[in-house]
Amino acid sequence: MDFAPTEEQLLVQRTARDAAERILLPRAAARDLSSEFPLAEMRELAALGLLGIAVPEALGGADAGTVAYSLALQELARGDGSVAVTVSVTNMVAELIAKYGSPVLAEAWVPRLVSGELVAGAFALSEPQAGSDSAAMRTTATKIDGGWRLDGSKQWITSGDHAGVMVAWAKTDQSAGHKGISAFVVPGDAKGLTVARLEEKLGLHGSSTAQLVLDGVEVPDDALMGVPGGGFALAMVALDGGRIGIASQAIGIARGALEAAVRYAGERHTMGQAIIKHQGIGAMLADAATWLDAATLMTLRAAYLKQHGQPYTQQAAMAKLFATERAWQICDIALQVHGGYGYVRDFPVERALRDVRATRIYEGTSEIQRIVIARGLLRTAG
Ligand SMILES: Cc1cc2nc3c(=O)[nH]c(=O)nc-3n(C[C@H](O)[C@H](O)[C@H](O)COP(=O)(O)OP(=O)(O)OC[C@H]3O[C@@H](n4cnc5c(N)ncnc54)[C@H](O)[C@@H]3O)c2cc1C
Repeated sequence: MDFAPTEEQLLVQRTARDAAERILLPRAAARDLSSEFPLAEMRELAALGLLGIAVPEALGGADAGTVAYSLALQELARGDGSVAVTVSVTNMVAELIAKYGSPVLAEAWVPRLVSGELVAGAFALSEPQAGSDSAAMRTTATKIDGGWRLDGSKQWITSGDHAGVMVAWAKTDQSAGHKGISAFVVPGDAKGLTVARLEEKLGLHGSSTAQLVLDGVEVPDDALMGVPGGGFALAMVALDGGRIGIASQAIGIARGALEAAVRYAGERHTMGQAIIKHQGIGAMLADAATWLDAATLMTLRAAYLKQHGQPYTQQAAMAKLFATERAWQICDIALQVHGGYGYVRDFPVERALRDVRATRIYEGTSEIQRIVIARGLLRTAG
């Protein structure tokens, strides 16, 4: 077993760390206040090759693998959790089209996505009545001459208002349950695609979350990915990989908060000594550091398995569950260590706590991860 990252992985990690320090951190608090989409930042990250880390070189990516991707996303999230989720979804969409779109579709969209020309990609699965239960979606795709017509609405779509391209799921056969769901590549400027509202969220203010309406959106036949009825399986595969991204995002946010807390605990004095020397504070920070280390190892293991073509559904679900639940606790500890100063905007920990909360919800809630893990246990019990 080798725990040492390769030269290439270290290079990607260093590039992302430098980008987070130089491009993201200086304006992260301002973006949180203004809810401004990180347009310029996404283009700068694209120019550094950070939007297509695990995408094949032939399609403009770096082909550096999932471990490098996780390491990079952790660094970006340490700088700004909002930008990290925007990058994570864009990467997920690029990987999905690269792997499951036709060669023509992949060549048409993936290079433009990873180069930053399209700024962001969106993953349009959830609907107002269908989040955890995505098979309950109501959006339909009706066959027309030479293509498909999509009608319905999508809820909670990250970057839905800025995406140059999205993968949208719709029912091509309404009587077939999840086997009637298909996946389509839809241009962000497609006629009939509109933004119905932008959500006002607890955190991740620098990431946009849109409700979309598809009103007679027409796409050609080759916009369908895979086979009709194969879309649900594609969504599940994409979410397996996406969960490594969200675990990495949670780790990065928590790492930033913990570093701030350790710094503060070394500087702040009460009763004659630095508060980190009070056993109660030191023990909380020790727990937080231990959880963070475990979460990082679990996430990198899931990334390693994905990268090497081995089954990783169970490990990705475990990593997402553990990393996001503990990251939430770590951010809470970081805030507590700051006392009253943790509760105000002067320090970054209140933003970390708000930002990290969403990681326990999207790409499958913690309850759904437990279902995935329990099903895996049943399978391996024989
Ligand atoms: C900021 C943000 C960004 C998002 N981005 C995207 C995106 O880009 N694309 C996209 O498609 N979606 C996105 N989502 C949607 C997200 O994936 C869903 O919100 C999530 O899957 C939960 O679905 P729901 O909100 O409908 O809750 P519900 O499914 O209604 O769940 C409500 C509660 O019931 C629990 N629950 C549901 N079913 C079960 C069960 N079988 N057993 C036990 N408990 C259960 C859930 O865990 C939850 O606690 C985003 C959400 C947020 C908040």
